[in-house]
Amino acid sequence: MVSVSKGDHVWIDQRTGTEFNVEIGARVVATQAGQIVLIDDNEQELHFPAQTKFRSMHISSIEGVDDMILLGDLKESAILHNLHIRYKEDIIYTYTGSILVAVNPYKSLDIYNIKYMRQYSNKKIGELQPHIFATGDNAYWSMQRYQHDQCIIISGESGSGKTESTKLILQFLAATSGQHSWIEQQILDANPILEAFGNAKTVRNDNSSRFGKYIDIHFDKRGAIEGAKIEQYLLEKSRIVSQARDERNYHVFYCMLAGMSKEEKQALDLTTASDYVYLNQLDGTIYCDSRDDAKEWATIKSACKVLMFSDEELNDILRLLSAVLNLGNLKFQATTTQNMDTCIVANRNVLRLVSKLLKLDENGLCDGFLKRTIFAHGEAVVTPLNQEQACDVRDAFVKGIYGKMFIWIVEKINSAIYKPQDRVAYRKSLGILDIFGFENFQRNSFEQLCINYANENLQQFFVHHIFKLEQEEYDNEHINWKHIAFEDNQRILDLIASKSLNIIALIDEESRFPKGTDRSLCDKLHAHHSKNENFIPRKTDNNINFGVRHFAGNVFYDCQNFLEKNRDTFSQDLMKLLQESQSKFLRNLFLNEFHIGTETRKRAPTLGTQFKKSLDSLMSILSACQPFFVRCIKPNEYKAADNFDRALVCRQLRYSGMMETISIRRKGYPIRHLFRDFVDRYRLLAPGIGPSHVEADCRAAADKICKNVLVNQDYQIGRTKVFLKDAQDVFLEQAREQVM
Ligand code: ADP
Ligand code: MG
Repeated sequence: MVSVSKGDHVWIDQRTGTEFNVEIGARVVATQAGQIVLIDDNEQELHFPAQTKFRSMHISSIEGVDDMILLGDLKESAILHNLHIRYKEDIIYTYTGSILVAVNPYKSLDIYNIKYMRQYSNKKIGELQPHIFATGDNAYWSMQRYQHDQCIIISGESGSGKTESTKLILQFLAATSGQHSWIEQQILDANPILEAFGNAKTVRNDNSSRFGKYIDIHFDKRGAIEGAKIEQYLLEKSRIVSQARDERNYHVFYCMLAGMSKEEKQALDLTTASDYVYLNQLDGTIYCDSRDDAKEWATIKSACKVLMFSDEELNDILRLLSAVLNLGNLKFQATTTQNMDTCIVANRNVLRLVSKLLKLDENGLCDGFLKRTIFAHGEAVVTPLNQEQACDVRDAFVKGIYGKMFIWIVEKINSAIYKPQDRVAYRKSLGILDIFGFENFQRNSFEQLCINYANENLQQFFVHHIFKLEQEEYDNEHINWKHIAFEDNQRILDLIASKSLNIIALIDEESRFPKGTDRSLCDKLHAHHSKNENFIPRKTDNNINFGVRHFAGNVFYDCQNFLEKNRDTFSQDLMKLLQESQSKFLRNLFLNEFHIGTETRKRAPTLGTQFKKSLDSLMSILSACQPFFVRCIKPNEYKAADNFDRALVCRQLRYSGMMETISIRRKGYPIRHLFRDFVDRYRLLAPGIGPSHVEADCRAAADKICKNVLVNQDYQIGRTKVFLKDAQDVFLEQAREQVM
């Protein structure tokens, strides 16, 4: 603690009453009339009594650094402060070692034009200011130089800028890898299509991706783009049938209705957005200020042309979209038959329209909604459904159709841009992962479990990578590297999906069990795991929830609808009916499903199993790549420019992995100085040492300084750097101040 004078920079405790409690940077603007006046990073004026002592700020924090590993006070508050002071100057990119931290500016910055692309092309990292292009360039050149596959993992919460970052890297690669050919245009044009069908306005983001994706770009020997392949993960299907307040359904519906001519709409039996229940529930948010739906429609259509969608295919898709909207308007009227709650279709005209669009038999479709066939002992038993059940069957049917159509669209895009490996002589790839970050809402369901499981995997991958990097640095410098223990999250992964009777396996088991319910599932989870250190039991036996201690925090999951979501299917009666559709396109979507049959024991793989399988395959692809990490940060909840919410940013930093980087570093030697810099800064602490440019052997000089001042011998002299513990750094700085 030190006394301060005007111009000094210090740290001040900041308590906001919540769990957020991280000191804030401040500078002394005046010392007068028995008072010290400071302005903190939030531009708030603070007053303290004249004699108050403060913790002084390290020079690196005062000036700000491009790479946060260089912060003298490498701690949470210093990272937050560094990001904050840069953000105020519209410097949104900062490194933390090998991670690029990107703070969403929520305003357009003129740093992505072709001039910047050229400038960042073919440079070493660190040569220019941190930038998303630098990460793209670095990955590209590593791929070329080492002939090794690369991946860029972009993470962050919704609205933090992952998808924009992905697009920027794609644009950079397309512009700088040389060829400017058709394939590059096709890869770029895949985006508007994917976004139309898989993005929607949410409260967090006007263009929120409701699916995860991995875009693998393939390069030939000369480094020119030769093709690409897109993998998609977990489209949010519930959005098709209902949306939260202030949110919308997928963009494509609004674009289509706003962009098509009257005649085109008539041909598809479409009217306007406000006529459709699926677009007009609760508050009926139909417009999104930041988007131009009609204009977007033209873009989508031309992108489909570029990606070789035929007119017929496009028309097939439009028919399905119209069928989806019209199905939402299908109403059931409650009736009673022989003392049972039953129902009938209330608007037969809508049913007729839908059966025409889907090319299905109208009566068959009607039965599909109103009845259910169950096979017991080889015999078919038909039971009528009540109004609520019929609505559920309808919604599940719609979700099934849209979900399959989305998968078809991704495959269609791939068929245009992907050349199978065996047809090319040489291929190296650069993949970009744009995937949902860790989620912890008021109410968390099966989707959050899957998403958080994916993030546990990525976290483990990340920690292993960082640890390996540290080890490599020690090896390169030929210094003593005692094995430093580090903890990873393997046990959480075991609990969720690896060890026998893991959570996903139990959910699967219960999903196949005819009498299984969400409650019986929850009981089972508790019976097996209540003693697991990473499992948090429910408060009372009445609840149907459970908690998991994730690396990023504790999350409670509500088991309601787990089984249904995991089964991920719809009425087998309707599935059967689909096989008889006159629409080849529609039949094709469900081809794999038909093989399974309705009466056999074999069932379609569950959502949990599918997701785990695609995640496992993703992880093995990533493991074979040299990785780069981009951590996107959302500065505020208001989609606003020039607004930095410290608590919000801090929360994101805590599960961004940056703290792990730091903690691994802290366990070894967090402070490193090149011999030259070290000699110049501390040479006065040992007799007879000149400035670095006159010292013949800076390594020996550095060693001499250390021997002379550091009582604690646990420092290391490497090949190019001095490696120090934090305390030694502090000690050196204090000693230096005394002799200056
Ligand atoms: P995420 O994919 O993480 O949910 P997005 O990439 O869709 O988030 O970004 C949300 C919004 O933030 C974008 O629509 C855009 O308005 C803004 N945004 C993100 N990154 C940038 C950037 N680099 N420059 C300007 N605005 C950005
Ligand atoms: Mg996104």
